[in-house]
Amino acid sequence: MGLLTLGTPLTWSETIPYIDYIKEHGIDQFINLYCRYKNREDAQLKWGDEIEYSIVKFDHANKKVRVSLHSDEILTQLDKQISENKKNHKENLSLWAPEFGGYMIEGTPGAPYGSSLECIDVVEKNMIARRNEVRKVLSNDEALLSITFPSIGAPDFTSPPVKIKAGQASESIFFSDDAVNYHNKRYITLMSNVLQRRGERLYSNVPIFKDKNTLSPFKEHFSDEESNKNSIPDHIYVDHMGFGVGMCCLQVTFQTVNVNEARWLYDQLTPITPIMLALSASTPIFRSYLADVDSRWDVIADLCDDRTPDEKGEAPLKDNHVIINKRRYDSTDCYIHPSSAEFNDIPLELDKKSYEKLIKNGIDEHLARHIAHIFIRDPLQVYRERLEQDVTTSMEHFETIQSSNWCNMRFKPPPIESPEIGWRVEFRATEIQLTDFENAAYCCFLVLLSRVLVSYNLSFLIPISQVTENIKRAQKRDAVHNQKFYFRNKLTKCLSSDENVQQVKNGNCHGYEIDEMSINEIINGDGKEFVGLVPLIRQFLDGANIDVESLFKINRYLDLIQDRASGKIFTLAHWMRDFVRSHPEYQYDSHVGDTIVYDMIKTMNEITQGKKHDESLLGKAPPVVKPKEVENAAKKEQRPKLLCYEDALNGQKFANLEAEFH
Ligand code: ADP
Ligand code: MG
Ligand code: MG
Repeated sequence: MGLLTLGTPLTWSETIPYIDYIKEHGIDQFINLYCRYKNREDAQLKWGDEIEYSIVKFDHANKKVRVSLHSDEILTQLDKQISENKKNHKENLSLWAPEFGGYMIEGTPGAPYGSSLECIDVVEKNMIARRNEVRKVLSNDEALLSITFPSIGAPDFTSPPVKIKAGQASESIFFSDDAVNYHNKRYITLMSNVLQRRGERLYSNVPIFKDKNTLSPFKEHFSDEESNKNSIPDHIYVDHMGFGVGMCCLQVTFQTVNVNEARWLYDQLTPITPIMLALSASTPIFRSYLADVDSRWDVIADLCDDRTPDEKGEAPLKDNHVIINKRRYDSTDCYIHPSSAEFNDIPLELDKKSYEKLIKNGIDEHLARHIAHIFIRDPLQVYRERLEQDVTTSMEHFETIQSSNWCNMRFKPPPIESPEIGWRVEFRATEIQLTDFENAAYCCFLVLLSRVLVSYNLSFLIPISQVTENIKRAQKRDAVHNQKFYFRNKLTKCLSSDENVQQVKNGNCHGYEIDEMSINEIINGDGKEFVGLVPLIRQFLDGANIDVESLFKINRYLDLIQDRASGKIFTLAHWMRDFVRSHPEYQYDSHVGDTIVYDMIKTMNEITQGKKHDESLLGKAPPVVKPKEVENAAKKEQRPKLLCYEDALNGQKFANLEAEFH
């Protein structure tokens, strides 16, 4: 999370005198970059995933498992391997980066995947190869898991144990700052600056899952007054960024052909984010207590919330502050393509100076509003040696604001230091999945959906306020079955801005209405007019030219998505809750004790490694990927066949679909 830069990070009080300067130069940097790249065209889609992993350590004798504060040494070894490969002109299958927890690492493919449909066959193999690289440097009692660790913040949750020190930056009573990626001061500074800016401790209250023996009201008593004051009954109290950011997630970035397509795709994928959040739910346990939510979204958002009480509307406004409705980590507030403007129904706070400058320099109103909106936030990661930046060759001041606006989607301009990379959008709402098979399936579903959207020029836009509401619903326990989501009930073509205005005015929405639909209806179709996202993807594939092997793989991924949506198989959150509740040691009091966590993580590790198959989570056993195939994982990426518009547009199915539109 945040900007990866070396230097001496400034504390919050040291940052304050530079806030205006950084914002002003950040905007100048964006304007320069935009002018330079606004006409940039890239020939084809490139895309890639980011997977965060937790390293865990088993104590088999005592039936305990802890997170292993070991990521720095592991990264050093992985980096050594990468340099050696480079020296020997060997391809690197993976790239590695530090993450917030001292027990976390983030892996991405060595090079982005290409645009051929066959590339989809590479994704899972690459993920397996990635995991294997890390496994080689782990000790025998350690494992690499793509999970949200259930005992973060529980007593003694790390190996080696680390103490909570008086006066530590976070002021947490559960999470030692020494469990944060220790050698990377930027994380501590970031957290400390969030805390200093907001002027009070970070905390969140997660609704507890009320089981038959759970105390009612459930109320913990802490040794310090402030925690007792901040915690509320029937909730699990958490008080450190690590309870959110220290839990893993899955992100996907798409490079588009130009800035226009990036803005359009950003908008079209925005209403999909809550659907994916519900479908991927994998966080039902916080601080070793079962929660009544299945995802980490609101918790992480609370724990990154740097707003002052007056900005939140809890105190009279002062210091030229304005009310800011959402947290810095939250769902996006506005669409950015001109044709989407009619669906922007949330009042948008703007940094006025930035907005005026953007408009004056020829940035259109819609993009200017987005950028000026992210610039209402102050910089949190500023480095003393890097205050002076050449606005024509650096994007650092822009990036410090941009990369700490943690929304469900991110619009990413081409990085100035890597001329080979184009305009991109990042899908950031998916929760992490246990196996490479599932992570590959979720990524492939998204990339295929993005191709369907672009190829058929479909629109799933709904008012942005409804996306905000959908994100809230998506986190609830078993949202995938129990919640309904605002969604268009019919496939519709994307209209121009004027057409949208006319339709909304006339109350005639081109044959569609926005219904409240279940995830099953959205993914599998409602049996009436809405065909469903996966059947739509299958139609698209019918019209495309694809080899049998790849199609087989894709179908298995789509089956997984469909089965999760229909309830045939469980989300990981549901599976974990069930595991706990059927464990002989569980007392039905919401508490998930050490042995239960140990047995669960051990089973999860066996499933990850393919040593165990659980049909309730994965459905039919996924095809086994052979070691030889993993070795060749990178090769197919270079294959030239395009997964592009022409394939689909020439396909017969498109004509059929077309006929269904008005
Ligand atoms: P961040 O942490 O800023 O979101 P990362 O560098 O960790 O970004 O990950 C970027 C992701 O974007 C990777 O999965 C990468 O494969 C993918 N990607 C998509 N398009 C490109 C491109 N043109 N060049 C490089 N990476 C790309
Ligand atoms: Mg990253
Ligand atoms: Mg990312």
